[in-house]
Amino acid sequence: MFNVDLHCHSTVSDGALAPAEVAARAKANGVDVWALTDHDEIGGIAEAREAAGDLGMRYVTGVEISITWAGDTIHIVGLNFDETDADLARGLASTRSGRERRAREMAEQLAVAGIPNAFEGALKYVGNPDLISRTHFARYIVETGRCADTTEVFRNFLIEGKPGYVPHRWATLKDAVTWIRNAGGIAVVAHPGRYDLSDLALDSFLKEFKRFGGVGVEVVTGSHTPDEYGRFADVARQYGLLASRGSDFHAPGESHTDLGGLPPLPATLVPVWHDWRL
Ligand code: AMP
Ligand code: MN
Ligand code: MN
Ligand code: MN
Repeated sequence: MFNVDLHCHSTVSDGALAPAEVAARAKANGVDVWALTDHDEIGGIAEAREAAGDLGMRYVTGVEISITWAGDTIHIVGLNFDETDADLARGLASTRSGRERRAREMAEQLAVAGIPNAFEGALKYVGNPDLISRTHFARYIVETGRCADTTEVFRNFLIEGKPGYVPHRWATLKDAVTWIRNAGGIAVVAHPGRYDLSDLALDSFLKEFKRFGGVGVEVVTGSHTPDEYGRFADVARQYGLLASRGSDFHAPGESHTDLGGLPPLPATLVPVWHDWRL
């Protein structure tokens, strides 16, 4: 039995540790097979792969792509692709491109809500100037004392209907899945329990995802409750999707699940790594 963790973040997106530090933490926590899946970025892959190699940990390329589907933001994880693929790199660059402008608008709203200088404040937490995210704003809002932790921030700010929320158009489902597939990888729906989709909308989404060539769904993730492990195990079986497992670790003490710290996938599911040579 391998401890497989195929979802986490570094300073190349909104994580707090550098790729090599994430690798070391994964290894220390007993992870055998590891993917770094930064948001809309593959700039951490070289460092991650080298660190994993030094630690004797199996490394798999990864990315988490932001998409807009029927007005909702959804995340698609890509795994085991060729990171030198030019179309993938271009697609990710275009997906990242609106982030700074969006962040400036977020900061304007936060200023009106009594949190001035949030753009500069968030930037202090940013490791990659191309990837300023809501997480960086959340860390700054905690720093100002307005909220006790980032969970409280995401209840009162930065979400639809609250100050600091700026709607954004990310990649399309078709493009994200196609970039991943054409680079030789597999596409996996990230943390489906996190989206505000009706059963009907989830059904349409998963059918479309499969039609474009998507093959997997995260079942055991740090973003699901144990009840949701069961619910999405059923979904994986019902739709004939491979199952994935990943902590979605961002920062020590910030994410409730640490690297490698989740239960195994239910034994009756086919894991995304079933045909990888491990
Ligand atoms: P962005 O891509 O800029 O919209 O930021 C999305 C990121 O915000 C996610 O990847 C999470 O890291 C973080 N996030 C969103 N919602 C929450 C939440 N409720 N609690 C903690 N972090 C959240
Ligand atoms: Mn994140
Ligand atoms: Mn996500
Ligand atoms: Mn994530």
